[in-house]
Amino acid sequence: MAQQKKDIRALTKEQLRTFFEKQGDKAFRGNQVYEWLWSKGAHSFEDMTNVSLETRELLAENFVINHIKVDTMQRSSDGTVKNAVRLYDGLIVESVLIPTANRTTACVSSQVGCSLDCKFCATSRLKRMRNLNPDEIYDQVIAIDNESRLYFDRPLSNIVFMGMGEPLMNYNNVIKAIDKITSPEGLGMSPKRIVVSTSGVPKIIKKMADDAVKFNLAVSLHSAIDEVRTEIMPFNEHFPLADLRESLEYWYAKTERKITYEYVVWKGINDRQKDIDALVQFCKYVPCKVNIIEYNPIDDGQFQQADNQAIEDYIYHLEKNRIVVNVRRSRGKDIDAACGQLANKS
Ligand code: SAH
Repeated sequence: MAQQKKDIRALTKEQLRTFFEKQGDKAFRGNQVYEWLWSKGAHSFEDMTNVSLETRELLAENFVINHIKVDTMQRSSDGTVKNAVRLYDGLIVESVLIPTANRTTACVSSQVGCSLDCKFCATSRLKRMRNLNPDEIYDQVIAIDNESRLYFDRPLSNIVFMGMGEPLMNYNNVIKAIDKITSPEGLGMSPKRIVVSTSGVPKIIKKMADDAVKFNLAVSLHSAIDEVRTEIMPFNEHFPLADLRESLEYWYAKTERKITYEYVVWKGINDRQKDIDALVQFCKYVPCKVNIIEYNPIDDGQFQQADNQAIEDYIYHLEKNRIVVNVRRSRGKDIDAACGQLANKS
């Protein structure tokens, strides 16, 4: 039965080499197969054309390749592409290709559903089914790299962990995927081109600093006042801003890398002067920049994008305090591919 066979990509290169040695073959065969699995992204053992038929049969008897399948692909009028990706057990996650003039960014998922409960995010309505494996995260990236070459004639340039799920709640697998993405045996991408976005899990932020990770960190802040933040992101009750702040100070002390705060401004929720003052104050703790994200409505009307004046006020006060602020327009709204809209509608 197929399920009893092990996913070959759960093996390290060393383990693959040992497998071949035990079969009385050369350990080097393991390197060859490993390269097919990772750099060349083989979907089946038949793909491995320079491996003998006998070896391919041996592999098929012992292993499976649990490769993801792009189930449906939608293209937005602005060029954004959304993939609904089917996993080996039939579950589906979504990933997005975001093209700009000179970049292609992949927005990838880290969990099926999400364990957090942010009130404004469509993904939070799907309960967390399971964590993605490292190869399931890696495959999403490869699929988008291929699409980027096909549609835009260039390789993928950046990756953001801003799809479904909370990456820091699946830290080990996210790290393994990033290791593969950045290693010469995988995509060989620079970690500087990768952003991991989190709602803020202080213990793991500290661990990342201890692990001396080389990618960038973004934090979905949305409010610097505990009562407001707990209202819209209820897990804040367990991970309050003081703990988040402490972990970010620790991060900066160890990595010396700026943090990006993601921030949506909603009417009647965080559009008062005291909300602005609190954000300005929070930004003074650790070197950072602020990305103000446009709100993408997710139906129920509880949340509404604030007036332009409120956004202007935020920008004015941040800039007056020498804090870098960008306003990010949404991409792919017409196909539900924008921030917070990934919810497997199909
Ligand atoms: N769990 C991680 C990864 C998700 S990233 C995190 O929270 O950072 C998705 C980003 O889009 C987050 O900054 C999130 O707060 C934001 N977002 C969620 N719902 C949104 C919506 N409806 N409109 C705009 N941004 C949204």
